[in-house]
Amino acid sequence: MAQQTQIGRVEERWPAFMAAFPTPAAMAAASPADVIRAWRGLGYNRRALSLHRAAVAIVRAGGTVPGDIEGLLALPGIGPYTARAVAAIAYGLPVGAVDVNVRRMLGRILGADPATLSRASLQAAADALVDPADPGTWAHAVMDIGATVCRPLRPSCASCPAQPWCRSARTLAAIPVPATVREPVSTSLAASPRPGTARFERTTRWLRGRLVDRLRDAPPGRAMAVDGPLGAHSAEAVTLALAALAREGIVELDAAGRARLAGSAELA
Ligand code: SF4
Repeated sequence: MAQQTQIGRVEERWPAFMAAFPTPAAMAAASPADVIRAWRGLGYNRRALSLHRAAVAIVRAGGTVPGDIEGLLALPGIGPYTARAVAAIAYGLPVGAVDVNVRRMLGRILGADPATLSRASLQAAADALVDPADPGTWAHAVMDIGATVCRPLRPSCASCPAQPWCRSARTLAAIPVPATVREPVSTSLAASPRPGTARFERTTRWLRGRLVDRLRDAPPGRAMAVDGPLGAHSAEAVTLALAALAREGIVELDAAGRARLAGSAELA
């Protein structure tokens, strides 16, 4: 949840979500539509679908979340970063989780442009640095420092715990940052307009979110006609967005083009 959604919003929704789906078995027994409904307000609904698919795969394999990288990577929706974060935080494996912020920080510590480092060499560097006594705390710490201390434009080298070993600390501290340059948001959402703004409402992401919300509000299992313009989006854009949601498995369309959330248990 917290990979692409503000932590405050996650905190609000986490208790109810976990009460509804406390185990992989509980989630696998629910329909994808149930999980997508419970995901309301968290954005990027594909993650809800991936979670459901992963829960089904876990239950089919015996019900235990895999504790090794290979097993985690085999689950739907799990990539190299998530697999290592789960392995370190949940299972205490001494592996480094490399997100975009950690990647930047590692590059600076090594005195290299991350773009010139292979994924394998960055991963090897991250793994070599892990504190074997507490890989989970290490993973949280590195991610937080990468996001809040080793910022893209104004790294706080003076207060950084990696400063004694960092090959870039002195150079970066000496480079003045023009006052007019704004610090980019150091998350994967950096390039996206902020939710709640007029600019955001013109994005496909906004449209997709509103379409899924409409279907969440429909009676469970009931397919409904979703046509016509929505906000600043034309009827054609609405149709295209619905088709994309159907291709991704979030929505189902019947022969008449009516839509409902995927895998709804009850048919209209
Ligand atoms: S010393 Fe500065 S550049 Fe190096 S890791 Fe820390 S914040 Fe980043």
